[in-house]
Amino acid sequence: MPTPLPDRVPVAIAGGGPVGLTLSALLTRQGIANVVIEADEGYCTGSRAICISRRSQEILGWVGADAPLVGKGLGWVGGRSHFRQTEVLHFQMPSEPTQRFAPMVNIQQFYIEEYAHQAMGGGAAVCWNHRVRSVVPTGDGVALTLDTPDGERHLRADWLVACDGGRSTVREQLGLQLEGTQYEGRYVIVDIRQKTQRPVERLAWFDPPSNPGSTILMHRQPDDVWRIDYQIRDDEDPVEAVKPENVLPRVQSHLQMIGETEPWEPLWISIYNAKCLTLPDYRHGRVLFAGDAAHLVPIFGVRGLNSGLDDAGNLAWKLARVIQGRSPDALLDSYSTERVHATHENLAYGAKSTEFMAPPDFAFRLMREAALRLAVGDPHVRALINPRQSAPIAYVGSPLNAGEDPGWTSALAAPGAPAPEALLRSEHGDFHLSQRYGQGFVCLVFGGAAPALPPDVQALVITPTMDVHAQAWQRHGLRRADEPALVLVRPDGYVMGRWHGHDGGRIAQALKTTGVMA
Ligand SMILES: Cc1cc2nc3c(=O)[nH]c(=O)nc-3n(C[C@H](O)[C@H](O)[C@H](O)COP(=O)(O)OP(=O)(O)OC[C@H]3O[C@@H](n4cnc5c(N)ncnc54)[C@H](O)[C@@H]3O)c2cc1C
Repeated sequence: MPTPLPDRVPVAIAGGGPVGLTLSALLTRQGIANVVIEADEGYCTGSRAICISRRSQEILGWVGADAPLVGKGLGWVGGRSHFRQTEVLHFQMPSEPTQRFAPMVNIQQFYIEEYAHQAMGGGAAVCWNHRVRSVVPTGDGVALTLDTPDGERHLRADWLVACDGGRSTVREQLGLQLEGTQYEGRYVIVDIRQKTQRPVERLAWFDPPSNPGSTILMHRQPDDVWRIDYQIRDDEDPVEAVKPENVLPRVQSHLQMIGETEPWEPLWISIYNAKCLTLPDYRHGRVLFAGDAAHLVPIFGVRGLNSGLDDAGNLAWKLARVIQGRSPDALLDSYSTERVHATHENLAYGAKSTEFMAPPDFAFRLMREAALRLAVGDPHVRALINPRQSAPIAYVGSPLNAGEDPGWTSALAAPGAPAPEALLRSEHGDFHLSQRYGQGFVCLVFGGAAPALPPDVQALVITPTMDVHAQAWQRHGLRRADEPALVLVRPDGYVMGRWHGHDGGRIAQALKTTGVMA
């Protein structure tokens, strides 16, 4: 029995991967009915994203998908890099006991899809085994033709979000092309099952005796699974390289070198090469692009899925407001401006990581070898080889940044920055600031009672007694805990503006001047 399809839906989402399913759940939470069109019959198989950042955990938390994720996933805070057999780096990501989530959690991508799907609830449906074949923009939406096991079906949507991955049909149908570069270096990606007692860390070996000349990465995943990535030589045939007879001895040699002796079996083998590609614009009339359909980011630094979830977090509230007539259509242009900016930052970091993990030429290889050799004896050089992991990108220069008064002590909470986290105490118990984001605008009120605010904005009064760890006022850049101030935070947890005093009129003005409200 095929999934019932209305003739017309407010939002169609092409692609039920992790980004499409999360977007669907976020839109449902905003009260927007939507349909996900997914070509496959279920969640992804094989080995894809495993490292999920703190920011992604927060976004998944907006729809309640954080609990199963944290329950199943393996949290971690740091890692170790080795040059040959010597440890040259032990890095730690920022982490503290009061934090809500670990900086990173390892979990297979299909679990994320499952948890996002479970979070969708009523108001949304997934049509599995439905492939978008054609997309025709109409004046007031799009007309879709779908290939299904029961033949062709048709659907009209007011808005279409393309979350159909790296080979996006929607992109092709609109005649759009990704722009950027592709790296030559290839990595074999192997998932194996083997029990281990090791702590959960990111482990890297450069030129290890087990596989001279290669670079090897290892990550633990739930269900006793290891992800092992290793670089193949430039002269190796990629087809030969993934044959089990060529892969298994290399894996065995490495496991032996690091002392992992439990029996093991391969689960999945594939090959990967890094790409730095993006569409120049993520909005084309009533079609919007998110996730891999919009950009392909190298896996090193784990910015692929993590940035796709940030796309979903940025888009959901904007699309909901426009559909509900609460914001002008132009608000959606800021989705493209902000997320294209974020992609450029992610690509810059991703390219740096790729050039270190898979040096594209002799000069890069030489520089890497020099840095690794020096890092053996000189702790100052170790910063150079620190694999910077995914972090939320500040929307510098965004049209939604509403401004600030002078005199704040921290630039980290300036307009356009992700709002800092804080653990607060209330009469109902402790809670994190990030738990209050993800739905509507929030105005943090320091140093007194909340002034009158526009109806779309919820006040959160933070008293010095609530701020038991002095995290909220300090991280938001106040000079003292009881200083009167207002900080306007967007539904996606980004700072929009901050002002001294308690003039609620400035909040209304900020929403107007930035075009959030007509
Ligand atoms: C080996 C590897 C390791 C990675 N590790 C990480 C990591 O640790 N952290 C990280 O953040 N990222 C990682 N990534 C990247 C991450 O996997 C992707 O960024 C992520 O899958 C993107 O999600 P998406 O939903 O945009 O696209 P996809 O996951 O590609 O989902 C797209 C969906 O659209 C469907 N589809 C395609 N065409 C159509 C059509 N015409 N009609 C309907 N449906 C269609 C597909 O079946 C698919 O389900 C890794 C990638 C690889 C390959």
